Amino acid sequence: MRVKELLQRFSKRAYSPLRDEEAVDGGVGSSGLVEIRAPLVITRIQSQPEFQKHRAQINAELAARQEAERELAQTFPSFTTSGFCFVCQKRTQFLSSWELAFNVGGHLEMNWREHLQCPRCRLNNRMRASVHLLMKIIAPTRESRIYATEQSSPLYIYSLMGENSSKKLRHEDLTQLSFPTHSFDVILSFDVLEHIPDYRSAFAECARTLKPTGKMLFSVPFDANSVRDQIRAQLRKDGTIEHLLPPEYHDDPRNPEGCLCFQHFGWEMLEEMKQAGFSSVWALSYYSREYGYLGDNQIQFLAEK
Ligand SMILES: [Zn+2]
Repeated sequence: MRVKELLQRFSKRAYSPLRDEEAVDGGVGSSGLVEIRAPLVITRIQSQPEFQKHRAQINAELAARQEAERELAQTFPSFTTSGFCFVCQKRTQFLSSWELAFNVGGHLEMNWREHLQCPRCRLNNRMRASVHLLMKIIAPTRESRIYATEQSSPLYIYSLMGENSSKKLRHEDLTQLSFPTHSFDVILSFDVLEHIPDYRSAFAECARTLKPTGKMLFSVPFDANSVRDQIRAQLRKDGTIEHLLPPEYHDDPRNPEGCLCFQHFGWEMLEEMKQAGFSSVWALSYYSREYGYLGDNQIQFLAEK
């Protein structure tokens, strides 16, 4: 699913600020009753100590979530979980499987982030949450100039990996964008920045091309228990790749071998973004059983110019 397609799909419904509190379950249902949903609670966090404080405050809630998730994670290879899709604005049965499960001390734990796919819009947990956060926090209008990095970076990596890009599809190098300064109101980047070895330059280019009031919403692999970024691979001066940790490839529809993950991020990323030209950066922590945003690491990021 490309972000552009996602936005087009969503814009058919409402490209105006849509609040989940106002969302109704398919309009007036057969019962004639309008269902009012609980708002998605989003906590803005700026540092690891703040995160730890937040976790301590909701300690009982965290235990209850874990308990509920254990019950929801059925032992079948694939299973469904009922909930409400914010993108479709409909009640649905989210699809999950044990693919990409984490091996924790010898037993498997569900990778909820990459599952809970809505059968209608086909978006998984994190993608639906990205749309939800976009509509709730940024609330773009039809006039908003939005740049989604997904269109470019897989190709960037594709060329980095030494493939002959004979097709010469037009693409942007996220570390060297061709757009003028102050071009965009919004930049969206969902699980892309981990594939760019020079991610600091990518942050700086995003900051440069955003308007002074611009905002960037993004997701990356993030370890909330780590201050430092974890550099898994880096690019040598001669263009070859040095692996510091076992190579990790993420699914890429355009490349059957997948896309190499150069780093996972830690809390120092927020400071790195400020150094790159953003004034404020927040981790957005959220969770919802209702919307199918399950899993212990429900965090995406908002950076303001
Ligand atoms: Zn959906």
